[in-house]
Amino acid sequence: MAILIVDDRKDTRTMIKRILEMDGHPDILMAESAAEAFALLGAAKENPAGSHSIDLILMDLMMPVMNGIDACRQIRAQAGLGEIPIIMVTANTDIQRLQESFEAGANDYINKPFNRIELLARVRSALRLKEETDRRKAREQELLEVKGMLEAANKVLKRLSSLDGLTGIRNRRAFNEALVREWRRGFREKKPLSLIMIDIDQFKCYNDAYGHQAGDECLKRVARALDHALHRPGDVLARYGGEEFAAVLPDTHLDGAVHVAEYLREAINKLNLPHAASTTESFVTISLGVGVLQPEPSLRVRRLVELADRALYLAKQAGRNCVKALDGRTGHPSP
Ligand code: GH3
Ligand code: MG
Ligand code: MG
Repeated sequence: MAILIVDDRKDTRTMIKRILEMDGHPDILMAESAAEAFALLGAAKENPAGSHSIDLILMDLMMPVMNGIDACRQIRAQAGLGEIPIIMVTANTDIQRLQESFEAGANDYINKPFNRIELLARVRSALRLKEETDRRKAREQELLEVKGMLEAANKVLKRLSSLDGLTGIRNRRAFNEALVREWRRGFREKKPLSLIMIDIDQFKCYNDAYGHQAGDECLKRVARALDHALHRPGDVLARYGGEEFAAVLPDTHLDGAVHVAEYLREAINKLNLPHAASTTESFVTISLGVGVLQPEPSLRVRRLVELADRALYLAKQAGRNCVKALDGRTGHPSP
């Protein structure tokens, strides 16, 4: 550990140096003025792990140009130097200025002329303290790094746990969260909430005809096309389960939601994915059920899901590849 001796008198510097070296402190730097000390400390700060790192300062109190108290204050004011212990070296006549030294940030003092034993005891305990502080800081730094890594990993996990493994869009869990969140927002802002339930038509036959892997590929293509077809940033598309998808449309009235649903239906038609086993069309189609409710405390969000589900059932009954909607206020199909 390196010790910096700051003293305007050469004989004092060399005497301290010799005492410390004899006690097994080989790394001694010397400065004859505050300015020279700052230069050495500046180099140490720029290269904290380098050979110039300084672990203790022995500072003469009385020096020309800038005294030890002002030097101490300046060192403490600099970022990165606050942790270096400073021992003031004082003549008996300076004793009344000790209070000032401590206020400037000194940690300890030693009187001139030196008592060798006393000097060494003070130096050892200051170095031990510095070592402790360094260790604690390294541990804190390590903890901070681990904390940062954990936070990043958590973020990734959270994202993954809300995405569907096959299609990459939101999963059922994320859908539930979004639905409740938008339901509450709709209530607060007195805005209607729309939900579209989407189901691929005759998908069982698709699997049977083309195989399960082709079925998976089809699900991915449909998910991507639906995702592209939704434009508003607040809209949430999710895989509801199996070959069913759901779109939550905040602040959207029935007409608007039906319009979006039609647009989604056309987007899948346009994909033109062959489906020879379908009796609806020769390509993959979807049926869509739209439900709209004005969120209120007396209603459960489940009501909206039931509404959209019933509308989807109506669309299947009406021959598939179409949109049906139910108005939450009347419970009747919209005209
Ligand atoms: P409908 O037009 O009435 O909706 O008929 P459907 O055949 O689409 O409906 P049904 O509920 O009878 O069958 C859904 C099929 O979706 C059953 C299953 O084979 C298929 N399916 C569900 N999840 C997956 C999946 O992750 N991958 C594949 N390849 N197929 C799936
Ligand atoms: Mg289904
Ligand atoms: Mg289906």
